[in-house]
Amino acid sequence: MSTRPFLLLAALLVAAPTAPVLGQTVVDDAALSTTGDGSNWLAYGRNYSENRFSPLTEVNTETVKRLGVEWVLDLPNDRTLTSTPIVVDGVMYFTGSYSKTRAVDVKTGKVLWEYDPESIRHAGDKLRIMWDTSRGLAFWKGKVIIATIDGRLVAIDAKTGTRVWETNTIVPDKYYYITGAPRVFRGKVLIGNGGTEQNAARGYVTAYDAETGEQAWRWWIVPGNPADGFENEAMEMAAKTWTGEWWKYGGGGNAWNGVTYDPEYNQVLIGTGNGSPWNRKIRSPGGGDNLFLCSIVALDADTGEYKWHYQTVPGETWDYNSNMDIVLADLEIGGETVKALMHAPKNGFFYVIDRRDGKVLSADKFGKVTWASHVDLETGRPVEMPGARYEDGEEEIWPGPFGTHSWHAMSYNPELGVVFIPTIEMPALYSDKKIDLKAWRSPEAGRLSAGVEFGTGDVPTDYGLSYLIAWDPVEKKELWRNRLPNNWNPGTLSTAGGLVFQGRASGIFAAYDAQTGGELWTIDLGLGISAPPVTYSVDGKQYVSLLVGWGGGGINLGSLAAQHGWAYRKHTRRLYTFALDATGAVPDSAPPFFPEPIDVAGFEVDETLAAEGSERYVEHCFWCHGSAAISGGNGPDLRASPVSTTYDGFRQVVVEGRQPLGMPRFRDYDERTLQALYHYVRQQARMAVQAKTAATP
Ligand code: CA
Repeated sequence: MSTRPFLLLAALLVAAPTAPVLGQTVVDDAALSTTGDGSNWLAYGRNYSENRFSPLTEVNTETVKRLGVEWVLDLPNDRTLTSTPIVVDGVMYFTGSYSKTRAVDVKTGKVLWEYDPESIRHAGDKLRIMWDTSRGLAFWKGKVIIATIDGRLVAIDAKTGTRVWETNTIVPDKYYYITGAPRVFRGKVLIGNGGTEQNAARGYVTAYDAETGEQAWRWWIVPGNPADGFENEAMEMAAKTWTGEWWKYGGGGNAWNGVTYDPEYNQVLIGTGNGSPWNRKIRSPGGGDNLFLCSIVALDADTGEYKWHYQTVPGETWDYNSNMDIVLADLEIGGETVKALMHAPKNGFFYVIDRRDGKVLSADKFGKVTWASHVDLETGRPVEMPGARYEDGEEEIWPGPFGTHSWHAMSYNPELGVVFIPTIEMPALYSDKKIDLKAWRSPEAGRLSAGVEFGTGDVPTDYGLSYLIAWDPVEKKELWRNRLPNNWNPGTLSTAGGLVFQGRASGIFAAYDAQTGGELWTIDLGLGISAPPVTYSVDGKQYVSLLVGWGGGGINLGSLAAQHGWAYRKHTRRLYTFALDATGAVPDSAPPFFPEPIDVAGFEVDETLAAEGSERYVEHCFWCHGSAAISGGNGPDLRASPVSTTYDGFRQVVVEGRQPLGMPRFRDYDERTLQALYHYVRQQARMAVQAKTAATP
């Protein structure tokens, strides 16, 4: 601490700050294994620990009130921005919507290059879900490595922005997609995928040579049809925990987010997904744990061989995947230093697990949880509550499928020993009363279907609560919590300056005192924030950067998401960079906008068709256009769209799509389905107009 300012001063005297010097820092295993001096942010979770903790202290609890806008980069053609940028030697790399990638000089905000992987064109008619989302990228020895929504890995020369290699990671004829960030270790780049809920498919992760893109190994997460033979002994073992003909449903389990490389044991820790379908009664009718769903699986980093696993939700049946981030830490527990991992998955328990063998050391509720009373630490298994498996066909359970914690990254301050977690407290009614469980078939053509009924109604503005929680993983208790706006708030950053940074759904970016939770600084950025911040330094000056672009899977919940007024394409997306004593202004932003539904006078709604339409709508349309046709901003509000006021106009867009804007073609829809959807949209629009008229005196 005492020598650092002098060293920096010396550096300034030798070389006046000019353009960034690329290639100074070799991003390899050594660089990614250390905390470093804070100048860089080298990986998705900053380094291999994935703790999103910076040792920088220039911005601290005393000085943070002087934080101001250094520069702003407008991104007018982007939409969803959820990415964690990477910063190497004063250059920031980030993925925007559809994985479009940019390099930016962090001192000036000037774009150095752009790379467009043309994800929409590559996805074609498989672009069936809202995910223009990309959560991040990787950097390795002069190359930026991105994963595209349509399933490719692309390595880009960090200096020139030109493609070095590209490889397809997706098994053909399935509806896999990628929203997660690749991870690189020991010369290999690892990627998983999503999409096993949209068709009969099983999850896998694949490692590729980071220099060439050549496949090194692949590991399947759930077993396939035993008649085809198992890929390895782990799959043979896993198959014993499944019943019935699970392979006909794919099984699921995909690794779409949490992956951590653990250099101390040369293992890669994979957070695995929920079952396909969600409902175990269909997927595995005779019961069973269904390995390796909802688990952390440790694989040998060089060979991809199975080492150990811990399953957070045996026999999963609620969409409680374990895809949330996995953070490495040395914890002092009972007088010993434990090489631990920390994990706060959807199911609402905070886990501390021994990384040597996967033994669970503690598991404690960090929000309202009713599916299980506790985790038995002797057996490592949750003790479920009677009724939780909707045995009689229906049960309200906490949490719902959004989980107590979603993919919004937590951060860990190792100096204080505290984790900062964005949480959601929201129940769901799980029901299969109206489903013929024996006749259920996996969806085709990328429709969402889970073997439980999805509500077709609106989601009220006050449904569920959101918090920022400070959690002590050793004492196993909450230290403080701050209420956040409903309901979709982004990941956190913590620093040695004693701060926690986090954006909010309301557009506020805030810094808190890590010890007390007290709010020390806020700025209104005029648009809902869905990405986590990063911090780094250049020439000894600390910067904080944040992408602002409302989006992701949580903004499709009808009025709950629409209440903020972040309507489709009304607000410019931006990259903000902050520094102490900076005096830049927040650019003007459109005020919150609430689309006005249009009623087509004289149109006769066929209630039977509209009811059919509501069922089809939740399979495909709600991802972008929102529950009950109330858009939270991912797509146009169909009730207010002039295109939807005539059947011909509506039909044309649904069948032919608007692919440059991300609207796929639904050429497999027959005329009745199209009519049903149209009647449903007209019905919802009329209901909204009538409700408004009734409320106006
Ligand atoms: Ca899921």
